[in-house]
Amino acid sequence: MIPYGRQHIDEADIQAVVDTLRSDWLTQGPAIERFERAVAQRCGVADAVFVCNATAALHIACLAAGLGPGDRLWTSANTFVASANCALYCGADVDFVDIDPGTLNMSLPALREKLERAQRQGALPKVVVPVAFAGQSCDLRGMRALADEYGFTLIEDASHAIGARYAGEPVGSNAFADMTVFSFHPVKIITTGEGGMVLVRDAATAEHLRRLRSHGITRDPAAMQGPSEGGWYYQQIELGFNYRATDLQAALGLSQLAKLEGFVERRRQLAERYSCLLAEAGIGLPQPQALAESAWHLYVVQVPAPRRRAIFDALRAAGIGVNVHYHPVHLQPWYRRLGFAEGDFPQAEACYQRSISLPLYADLTDAAQDQVVAALLGALEHAA
Ligand SMILES: *Cc1c(COP(=O)(O)O)cnc(C)c1O
Repeated sequence: MIPYGRQHIDEADIQAVVDTLRSDWLTQGPAIERFERAVAQRCGVADAVFVCNATAALHIACLAAGLGPGDRLWTSANTFVASANCALYCGADVDFVDIDPGTLNMSLPALREKLERAQRQGALPKVVVPVAFAGQSCDLRGMRALADEYGFTLIEDASHAIGARYAGEPVGSNAFADMTVFSFHPVKIITTGEGGMVLVRDAATAEHLRRLRSHGITRDPAAMQGPSEGGWYYQQIELGFNYRATDLQAALGLSQLAKLEGFVERRRQLAERYSCLLAEAGIGLPQPQALAESAWHLYVVQVPAPRRRAIFDALRAAGIGVNVHYHPVHLQPWYRRLGFAEGDFPQAEACYQRSISLPLYADLTDAAQDQVVAALLGALEHAA
């Protein structure tokens, strides 16, 4: 089976983890800080906070943005459930913005229109979470202007997009977003097994995120109510979580980060190769977003909706581990219970009906890719 995505682990990665096992630190130790500094430096941003996964990262990013009961968070209708669940964790309401049918990213005109309507109704969002779908940022420049006009916090869910660029800057630089979140799940661009990160512009937000990561506890006398009672003393000053990652994960992350450039370059080559080999296939291919250079987490093709199931099944039967991104979040049973229904976000629903994600990862060989293309062309002919 050729999977749709998989990690690349080499001897250096294995050695980095083994060395950590022999060190004094298993949970949060020096590797965490090194990994955070290395990612922040690479992205050209003030600070980065490493946590146990990107879902936790989204949750504490929302809390740091002040999201709570009575507030609203909007995200893309075409995303993984975590981009929306973070609002519910905070007790806030969630709503979605439909996508651009070309880039499959949150549509800027749809966002603008929804904001105008929400303003008239006195129901503006506090946080908007655009998703860098498949590794390519949304129209962040346009969204920044709307964030300034309407006063919401812009958190980019860049779970697919470490190593990507936007307007010449690394994704994560927060040149346009207020905060950015990365995922290090094994199918993403680099991995720490499980892991996520929030990138922030200022030290105060970073400190808040670190406190939320570890129970809401501080050891800083300046942040305490009343004097410290001694060297052992800490105070819990808000409700936090145990969202810590381990030094084992950070050591793996540092080792993976050294290969990021190469991973993204190989993914880009493979994506170009797909686009070349499929140019005459009569199917929808990924469309570029202005100013964005994708990290190519996914290569999503659009086939005629009535034939999607047959083509998907034929590819799976041929040993090609294709996938579908995404079943729109608002159509999940949990979200239907909140009142969402079919027809709410027609572009995301149409995209779901047509999409197939082809295998794409750094270790995919040209020969395996040729096999995928041949199987897809065969399936397209048979399912005609
Ligand atoms: C993978 C993913 C997440 C969650 O990442 P985890 O690290 O698995 O928690 C969130 N948003 C999007 C868009 C993702 O693809």
